[in-house]
Amino acid sequence: MSVCMECGFIIYSEDKYCGGCGTVLPSVKQQAMATQQELTMEDVRFNLASVYFKMGKNEKAKEELDKVLADNPRDQQALNLLKQIKEK
Ligand SMILES: [Zn+2]
Repeated sequence: MSVCMECGFIIYSEDKYCGGCGTVLPSVKQQAMATQQELTMEDVRFNLASVYFKMGKNEKAKEELDKVLADNPRDQQALNLLKQIKEK
């Protein structure tokens, strides 16, 4: 749920037009923003670790994975990547 930029009317994610003033709502943009908000800090760190790993910067990758695992010691994707780094 959000509010119309034009008139302040309450709008819902499935609405295509504002019920208050009839403005066409930027639904695609809103969905993109919602997706960004769902990315957790953990995901961001894991993605960063993956990038470091692909670049061969294993120490950096391990640092990021350690942070992920400090928050969530059972994070399976982080544990898997850490295992790959150790096997190298
Ligand atoms: Zn409006």
